[in-house]
Amino acid sequence: MISQINDEMQSIERMTVVGRLYFIPPGTSPAGFQANLKCRGTRDQGSCGKKLLGPVRLNLTSRGTLLDCLKDLHRKLETDHSKCVSCVAADTSQEPAPMIINSSQLRAAGFKLDKVIPPQLEAAARR
Ligand SMILES: [Zn+2]
Repeated sequence: MISQINDEMQSIERMTVVGRLYFIPPGTSPAGFQANLKCRGTRDQGSCGKKLLGPVRLNLTSRGTLLDCLKDLHRKLETDHSKCVSCVAADTSQEPAPMIINSSQLRAAGFKLDKVIPPQLEAAARR
């Protein structure tokens, strides 16, 4: 079971549209997995433009185990983002860069919110 989970996590993380896979610990909702997508930066080229998929959480019916969650997430990535793969793969602007997540970080980095030029930062500021 553990090795199956590992394999599934690795195959999801290797997907072109996936930036990172996160485990969401249980809180008010059951545990699950969430994927950061690279689709956001390629919206203009025709991708879906989404930033996240999930979380896909444990439930009492179809997803009784974490492996079920991963498989569901994997399936959704394949079906919902099939068109995004070529956009993300063709995009050369998405070199690894630290993601600035919220506006206080943008201000600390010296960006004025109405004058953010790089599209990624603009997108990040409008979450
Ligand atoms: Zn997508």
